[in-house]
Amino acid sequence: MSLEPRVCVIGSANLDLVARAERIPRPGETVLGYAYIEAPGGKGLNQAVAAARSGASVSFIAAVGADAAAATLTGVAEADGISTLAVKRVVGPTGRALINVGDDGENSIVVIPGANGQLDAKHVRIHGPTVARAQIVLAQLEVPIPAVIAAFEVARAVGATTILNPAPAAELPDELLTLVDILIPNEHEAASMGGVDHLRRLGIHTVIVTEGPRGCRVFDHSGERRIPSFTVDAIDTTGAGDSFCGALSARLALGSTIDDGLVWAGAAGALATTVVGAVPSIPRTESIAELIRSQGRAPQG
Ligand code: ADP
Repeated sequence: MSLEPRVCVIGSANLDLVARAERIPRPGETVLGYAYIEAPGGKGLNQAVAAARSGASVSFIAAVGADAAAATLTGVAEADGISTLAVKRVVGPTGRALINVGDDGENSIVVIPGANGQLDAKHVRIHGPTVARAQIVLAQLEVPIPAVIAAFEVARAVGATTILNPAPAAELPDELLTLVDILIPNEHEAASMGGVDHLRRLGIHTVIVTEGPRGCRVFDHSGERRIPSFTVDAIDTTGAGDSFCGALSARLALGSTIDDGLVWAGAAGALATTVVGAVPSIPRTESIAELIRSQGRAPQG
């Protein structure tokens, strides 16, 4: 392959603060917890790490605040070789998710978008050359939509492929949807966006609906087909969708066909469910290739 596989990710970076207690507190109540961890997260950061671990050269366009979490999150990205030159520093807090988890599996989560909410179209346009160098431009919906539109406009102008993971579900303007080449909703998001037929009528040429352990269905010019996932012992599905989107982007940048890329992405998503957490669970090329080999699926590099 002559071209270096480049993926540009526009999205969120959060620090997740996770408290564990016997049960989550009721309104007004205080409970004593027994464990606490801080973990990097945010769909943008997770997907950037997933693309890097599948072999792409990744640039991350994001916003972090003026606090210690900012350095933690850029450090996590850089540890996977991701370029953070286009990460904006703003006044105020870095994005955070405050998560309480009870032993019964119940949770309650407050997300503070913080700096993520200040990622704007102007910043993206300043880093237009970074976007323009990528073959694949990947975004989600945890940063303001004008920033995503600005990135996809640059991508369209240079013929790069745009991929949108429309999560969390939101009402999207046609101005954004008409710039999307590949849309990757889960079943719930696909339904809330009016269904696959509606999305394809808007001009999105490839829609990939992820269906957890059942794998995914792809709808494109060659019709509809299912790409089954892999059989694994799932213990925590956090990071599965993000691993899937990032890994697919890397494989497409490397020149894979969509069907080969989806086998790879399915293996990445499946492996992510076998380890607790988001960033720690995102698999690397070697373990993805090994799972594909061990389950006798199409040969992958
Ligand atoms: P999201 O987390 O965004 O809802 P999904 O749960 O659909 O996304 O997971 C994304 C992909 O990860 C799936 O299409 C599948 O390939 C893989 N995956 C998720 N959960 C499992 C599982 N339990 N076993 C095997 N593969 C899984």
